[in-house]
Amino acid sequence: MNKENNLSGSAITGLSNEEIERRIDETVPKMTLDEKLAQMAGAVTKNMILRLVQEFTNPDTWDTPANDRLNIPPLKYIDGPRGVGKGKATSFPVSILRGAAWDADLERRVGEAIGYEARALGANAVCSPCINVLRHSSWGRAQETYGEDPYHLGAMGASHVVGMQRHVMACAKHFAANSIEKSRFYVDVRMDERTLREIYLPHFRMCVDAGCATIMSAYNDLNGYLCAHNKHLLADILKDEWGFDGLVVSDWGMAVRDAVAAANAGLDVEMPTGKRFGKKLKSAVLEGKVSEGTIDKALQRILRQKFRFISPDNLSGYDLGKVGGKEHAAIALEAARKGIVLLKNEGAVLPLRRESLRKLAVIGKLADRPNLGDKGSSNVEPPYAVTPLEGIRSWAGNSINIVYDNGRIISRAKRIAKDADAVIIIAGLTWLNEGEGGYVYGDRKKLGLPKKYTKLIKAVSGENERCIVLLEGGSAITVGEWVGRVKAILMAFYPGMEGGNAIADIIFGDVNPSGKLPIVFPKSATQLFKFDSRARTVEYGYYHGYRYFDKIGIEPQFAFGFGLSYTEYNYSNLRLDKKEITKTGRIRAQADVTNTGEMAGEEIAQLYVGYKGSKVNRPVKDLKGFTRVALKPGETKTVSFDLNAQDLAYYDMQSSRWEIEEIEYVLRIGPSSREADLKLSETFGIKGS
Ligand code: BGC
Repeated sequence: MNKENNLSGSAITGLSNEEIERRIDETVPKMTLDEKLAQMAGAVTKNMILRLVQEFTNPDTWDTPANDRLNIPPLKYIDGPRGVGKGKATSFPVSILRGAAWDADLERRVGEAIGYEARALGANAVCSPCINVLRHSSWGRAQETYGEDPYHLGAMGASHVVGMQRHVMACAKHFAANSIEKSRFYVDVRMDERTLREIYLPHFRMCVDAGCATIMSAYNDLNGYLCAHNKHLLADILKDEWGFDGLVVSDWGMAVRDAVAAANAGLDVEMPTGKRFGKKLKSAVLEGKVSEGTIDKALQRILRQKFRFISPDNLSGYDLGKVGGKEHAAIALEAARKGIVLLKNEGAVLPLRRESLRKLAVIGKLADRPNLGDKGSSNVEPPYAVTPLEGIRSWAGNSINIVYDNGRIISRAKRIAKDADAVIIIAGLTWLNEGEGGYVYGDRKKLGLPKKYTKLIKAVSGENERCIVLLEGGSAITVGEWVGRVKAILMAFYPGMEGGNAIADIIFGDVNPSGKLPIVFPKSATQLFKFDSRARTVEYGYYHGYRYFDKIGIEPQFAFGFGLSYTEYNYSNLRLDKKEITKTGRIRAQADVTNTGEMAGEEIAQLYVGYKGSKVNRPVKDLKGFTRVALKPGETKTVSFDLNAQDLAYYDMQSSRWEIEEIEYVLRIGPSSREADLKLSETFGIKGS
């Protein structure tokens, strides 16, 4: 068993690992086959599902049955990645914004807050984090994940898991390669083993190593097998190789098609009903197609997590008043402040200074509505949501005249813009443009803004020298058509219930923007490979995102890791503690980051590694570390990164092993993945085992 996956001492129930294993050993033999199978499927009935679909809602929790005779509690799942999907819960900024905050500690606190609220609301497991690779910004559920890079996804996801599991089980999803929405129920995603191991799985492994209790299998097929039937994925890699000792739950509904295939592949729980893992699984066991040993193994996993995480007094000490309350709202605000990205700031037009404004025009209907993300399973209904307009108005008080216009009549918007000292246009996407729901909303149709906004920006920007565009949306938005006409661009994603306040704090300079893109923003969709949302089969190549741009040598509009600040940072003095390490060794890289401007700020330093003379095709560079550092004007701090030789291995398909090459590695530290930003560079070698 993987050591780090051993949650010794951290069980919520207070039981030691030995006690948990003993309880499992005592319980399983006492159970009848029916009792065992009942544990392996959701208890939601057909009628309940019909009612939920009609009412466009979710149950309070998605449950498996309890077993009162043997004192086994039910699993009670709840969604999801941006907050709890029931009650008036805190609506955090969507995961992609939190990915742009590059703050693992903050993500731990977000996970912890969601976990707390979930538990207070009666759940004991949360369908979060979502850590699928954002391979193409057209993916409708892009907002639910943290970005495009496996290392970054793993670091954020693992922190979320650690925080969340102080209260409930986390569930890393969707395992694996789920990054097209419309065809999610039928697409066969194909890739070679190296691509799978290096690009689509490492972040799941990082969550497993962080002790993640449950993993949700994806809807799609992977290399010809449904993920829920995929023995290679569930049994060989997840359980045998990685030593995952938790349970695998299916995605909700159409994920399991065959009881025998799923049970034998290593699926432990079918959700939300036992359509296959009910009577059909029982017949399969009785016919000898699934052994009772296989059932027992699934049961051991289910019981292990229940005995770790669910106390009889699970609710005691949990205060419903904290759900959607002040303490968690403060975390939502912090996340929004840290994850909003400043993409352009010509002539330092931002921040807007109070004394320079008498009249400020705010244009676009998104200014005046909460825009919290999609309405799929990750939907949250918070107690309130501060819109951009409310945030701006409340910051401005009486001293600035805020004139709002919804932008519907362009001539009127132009007039208002002309008459103001500065103009902010709020434009972007909503749940009607992107989101979960393969047959309703789904994937994006295009990467640019809806036409009405492009028109509005083009018209209004001509009327005012100080024109700022604030974008909302779940992933990259192409800006090529209008980028040259405006002075500043902010990317606010879906910034959560405190979003309006964070937006005002940044626009007026109370907060120095520090977010950096966790995905590439292309100049246009033609820079990317084709995204076919209805494909039955799709081949995922090794390269996407910044690695793809690097490899074919094209410049995106805004690079991965890019984001501006109101101050300037200088990187210097890169040093390594060794020039050579062994294959089991570790190297420490340090560099100094100085705030050379006039405003305090937080910088995200990034570490990339390239490979010189590798015998296989490798990326120009891979992200291998990042850290957030707070700096006052004039202050210098040292950032440190530890890198294991093991982290530089590639997956060799001939030997089916990870290979660490004895070559030269190029280590670079800087503010983004842009070549021009990675001036600090040092090489080191790996030699000997
Ligand atoms: C989604 C999951 C979600 C589940 C439960 C599924 O359709 O793909 O992400 O957690 O529903 O709501």
